[in-house]
Amino acid sequence: GVYEVTLFKNGKLIDGDAHLDRLFRSLREMKIEHDFSKDVLVKMQLDLFKKNSMPEGCCYIQVTRGSTNRIPNFPQDLTPTINATVSLAKKLTEEEFENGVSIMTHEDIRWKRCDIKSVALFASSFVNQKAKDSGFNDAIFVRDGVVTEGSFANAFIADNNGTLITKAPDNLILCGITRNRMIDIARANGIKVEERNFDVAEMLAAKEVFLTSSSLILRPVTRIDGEAIGSGKAGDVAKKLAG
Ligand code: PMP
Repeated sequence: GVYEVTLFKNGKLIDGDAHLDRLFRSLREMKIEHDFSKDVLVKMQLDLFKKNSMPEGCCYIQVTRGSTNRIPNFPQDLTPTINATVSLAKKLTEEEFENGVSIMTHEDIRWKRCDIKSVALFASSFVNQKAKDSGFNDAIFVRDGVVTEGSFANAFIADNNGTLITKAPDNLILCGITRNRMIDIARANGIKVEERNFDVAEMLAAKEVFLTSSSLILRPVTRIDGEAIGSGKAGDVAKKLAG
């Protein structure tokens, strides 16, 4: 199965179209056939918020291949199952934003199709839990020396010149909707953006590090493996993009 998490604010889905484009891409890559349109999924989300009297929140949409007997290949002629729930969105307080999160780096033990937003999240959850059990807030994955992304978020660094750097999209990261939006906002504000690989040493030497995701938008990272990043507080680039 595949999933999406969308954010609903002031009566509108934020980047709703981009989320559904990515959901349909995930379905295509997983070879899950379906005949539902984007409109049906938009209406489903809006109805859920309305029925639950929620002016804002998150919508979790999950599409699984469908129900059948256990066979090793993809069963044919299945009807996919759609399951969706809405919940309140967690918002960072000003203090949480300012203090940022502490991160543990961890070998990227996920499969090599991280571009698909699949519900097979054991490796991500396992490492996220390991980070929490070790006294960190979250983890950032590293594969063959390259920083890929957070356990459930994209990773950005800002160097001493204020240039924003994030991994170029490929099969090793989920190309985040918030990631793309932040790149657009940065460029519109005259901030130089480079989409390229960086390693842990470059990340530790960066002026700022932050994570982006639809539900939490932007989380400054102020400690990595016990070392302070920049001033140890949320930086100017993070503030500019989040504001
Ligand atoms: N990478 C991973 C592995 C994620 O789980 C998420 C959260 N969906 C993201 C990146 C951020 O994606 P988005 O901004 O679309 O929420």
